Amino acid sequence: MKHLFLILFLFVSVLSLKSQSLLGEKEYFTRQDTLRGSITPERIWWDLTFYHLAIEVVPDLKFISGKNTIEYTVLKEYQTLQIDLQSPLKITKVTQDGVPLKVIDDGNAHFVQLQKKQKIGNSERIIVHYQGNPKEAINAPWDGGFSWKKDTNGNHFVATSCQGLGASVWWPCKDHMYDEVENMKISVTVPRNLMDVSNGKLENIVDNGATKTYHWSVNNPINNYGVNLNIGDYTHFSEVFEGENGNLDMNYYVLKYNLEKAKKQFTDAPKMMKAFEHWFGPYPFYEDGFKLVEVPYLGMEHQSSVTYGNKFKNGYLGRDLSGTGWGLKFDFIIIHESGHEWFANNITNKDIADMWIHESFTNYSESLFLDYYYGKKASSEYVIGLRKGIANKKAIIGKYHLNNEGSSDMYNKGGNMLHTLRQLVDDDEKWRRILRKMNTKFYHQTVTSHQIELFLSREIGLDLTPFFNQYLRSIKIPTLEYNLKNNILTYKWTSVVKNFKMPLKVFINDTPIWLYPTTEVQKKTLTSIKSTFKIDPNFYVYSKKIH
Ligand SMILES: [Zn+2]
Repeated sequence: MKHLFLILFLFVSVLSLKSQSLLGEKEYFTRQDTLRGSITPERIWWDLTFYHLAIEVVPDLKFISGKNTIEYTVLKEYQTLQIDLQSPLKITKVTQDGVPLKVIDDGNAHFVQLQKKQKIGNSERIIVHYQGNPKEAINAPWDGGFSWKKDTNGNHFVATSCQGLGASVWWPCKDHMYDEVENMKISVTVPRNLMDVSNGKLENIVDNGATKTYHWSVNNPINNYGVNLNIGDYTHFSEVFEGENGNLDMNYYVLKYNLEKAKKQFTDAPKMMKAFEHWFGPYPFYEDGFKLVEVPYLGMEHQSSVTYGNKFKNGYLGRDLSGTGWGLKFDFIIIHESGHEWFANNITNKDIADMWIHESFTNYSESLFLDYYYGKKASSEYVIGLRKGIANKKAIIGKYHLNNEGSSDMYNKGGNMLHTLRQLVDDDEKWRRILRKMNTKFYHQTVTSHQIELFLSREIGLDLTPFFNQYLRSIKIPTLEYNLKNNILTYKWTSVVKNFKMPLKVFINDTPIWLYPTTEVQKKTLTSIKSTFKIDPNFYVYSKKIH
């Protein structure tokens, strides 16, 4: 999600992206970054199995209070357990088996001193109580936290967003991507005139008099930043989608006065589901259903509870990011954020440095949606059109163990890298099989970039190590230097990383042929003395004619 602000920024300015990314452009790191971004000794010894987050939200006071019950399996004997919760929220009490425990605070990391002997294989539980006025979102979802807004009728309209920043900005948890909880309950108490919509399925609503408690149940692994609460004067409509794994409940929650607009605009949701099941395989969370939930910010890929604030317009707030016209054929937020159900929510990066796994595939999912409904030409034009948003100032992969995102080029450049890869596969049915197999092989897993790179190399049958090093780890764009004199074509790759030798499709007199350039000059004798030469524009490469 996070890139959109940057893209907009690029549209209005050609200034450097530096200082715009919230985490990605950071140059200096602190002990707090390491505590947040690495698998510390106080994290590695326990495997997260279950959360029950139960909180009350008081919008009038911008105040929250509650507790998180955390269950885990002991992997290694250890007596200190790290819980993350960001200031100004405060942990008020931690217990295990009813016994209050000492907690040593180190900034936003809190080290719980366990008294009970932690034995390998045992299942244990702690309860963390907390409260306070959470960080208010400055510019959700990019600079997130709690958005305390009002709808046009003056009702409270409240939502959380925390990608990058971390879920610990609003609830105590193990705030690292590598360990996803297996399932979760979310109970949110709100003023009785409002409703809470969270992830998974609504189990029941308890009437407490002045307040109501909404109990939601998530029956699949979920990453921390995917967890959300949305509170508003909602109305609801639904449909059943007949998908690859049977009937899928699709539920839509919007402010009451937006119902008619939503009923029209959200017809993109079943269209999305059909196209993405075709390309990526079954929706990964049938048990939890799929939801679109209106929020007071642009949107986010909250798992099974995709949040929506695109003003019921096609494109990105009514604009086409590709400049080709194709971007106005769909609602950007419905398509992009839902694409993340496969790439981000199903296949999740272990370290946020590898966030391209989320954003490059999801960026490319936009063009695959177009491909499904409007054909290959539309899809290619769209992804090529997005190239104008590429900055090439910083590598796509960030720094590991520091909660450090790479460059926002993980979106448009990443999408174009995958489009280039599709040209190398040169067989769309094979390409689709690979994308579907990837979602099966890494089903509900957290993964590294290397795992994905290796998988793609094996499936495609090419050693893609230099290819990924080039596009993900360097800012160099492969450049074909060539010369065409009489009937002799000479060519070689420049501006490439070690061992880069990507084959390239070119057109000579409009006939497609494959070249196999390396960094050494190669020669090809052409049949005609007056030949024309053109590189297939689907490859994200540069060319330079040498005279
Ligand atoms: Zn995204």
